[in-house]
Amino acid sequence: MRANALAPYRRITIKIGSALLVDKTGKLREDWLDGLAEDIAVLKEGGRDIVIVSSGAIALGRSILGLSAVALTLEQSQAAASAGQIALSQAWADALGRQNIVTGQILITPNITEERRYFLNARTTIATLLGLGAIPIINENDSVATAEIRYGDNDRLSARVATMIEADCLVLLSDIDGLYTAPPAKDPTASHIPVVERITPAIEAMAGGAASHLSRGGMTTKVEAGKIATQAGTAMIIAKGTEAHPLRALIEAGTHTLFQPSTTRAQSRKRWIMGTLAVAGTLQLDAGAVRALMQGRSLLPIGVTRITGEFERGDTVGITDPEGREIARGLVGLDSDDARLVMGKRSDFIGDLIGVGNRTEMVHRDNLVLIGAKEEASHELG
Ligand code: GLU
Repeated sequence: MRANALAPYRRITIKIGSALLVDKTGKLREDWLDGLAEDIAVLKEGGRDIVIVSSGAIALGRSILGLSAVALTLEQSQAAASAGQIALSQAWADALGRQNIVTGQILITPNITEERRYFLNARTTIATLLGLGAIPIINENDSVATAEIRYGDNDRLSARVATMIEADCLVLLSDIDGLYTAPPAKDPTASHIPVVERITPAIEAMAGGAASHLSRGGMTTKVEAGKIATQAGTAMIIAKGTEAHPLRALIEAGTHTLFQPSTTRAQSRKRWIMGTLAVAGTLQLDAGAVRALMQGRSLLPIGVTRITGEFERGDTVGITDPEGREIARGLVGLDSDDARLVMGKRSDFIGDLIGVGNRTEMVHRDNLVLIGAKEEASHELG
């Protein structure tokens, strides 16, 4: 028997293109979606965290608004996205609801995945939904995004989402079963590539520029997505999604292209946090907190003795030992005003000081890199 392509992965982001969800007349492909929901339920049953990035808002919205026949202006496609997103979310809620799975909707604009403050909030919301057994359904916030701040295609958006939540695999369900040496529709000698170890200029050249009747992407944005994912330690799979039960097909080792990660997720996170040139402030610790950090624990307010600088939640701060030597860096969980209020205090008093419902860690262990230490400072998210 051939191998299950999804077996190695625990947290999987699945990107569904418009052309799979919506037929050429603008109608939802309900039976197909029901089959996919069954596949997702099987994966979830097997202990996987699943996050869906779904296109289809514009494709559904244009038929709902009676715009099917026309080439859409920007305003019209934003209106279509607005009407269609409701239908799209409902379709997911219904299909996964039939599998007794709850869904949550998250609409994303690029600043959410680029700016650390938003990034941390979006990541926490997704992790919380997953922890509650729900499946987040994500799309770009097309009805408000402007041309300059749009991803424009869900291939790259899904790669950002996958890396943000440290998924170990991103699956792009497409109308083609992977990457070919040339676009197979144009070149009959084109051959399928099962594994891409590294995205070289030769691989990029193979991607060409073709797009299907609905998707914005084509193979070029899929390879772009592959770069984002693999550089962050997330594997990417391109597989054909048009037939019924596309994920079951992958589990049963259907044809696909696997893009292998070029680094580990822990290294990538470390690079990202350590890549900050200027830290926004510093937190000085007592000896007990230093020990806790060395054991891979989060930094709690009680262990902080001194704070310098002004910072926002999500900024990078330096973390020093009692002598002022920098021992770690991390993304801070509180802004500097709140941090000053709670430093030195026990975690159970923090709700009284900065409001119940606020986070009690100064720096969560997932957002912390020990300087000079090996990978043990890094943990899986969630
Ligand atoms: N976000 C768009 C939509 O939901 C689709 C973008 C894409 O097809 O990549 O309609």
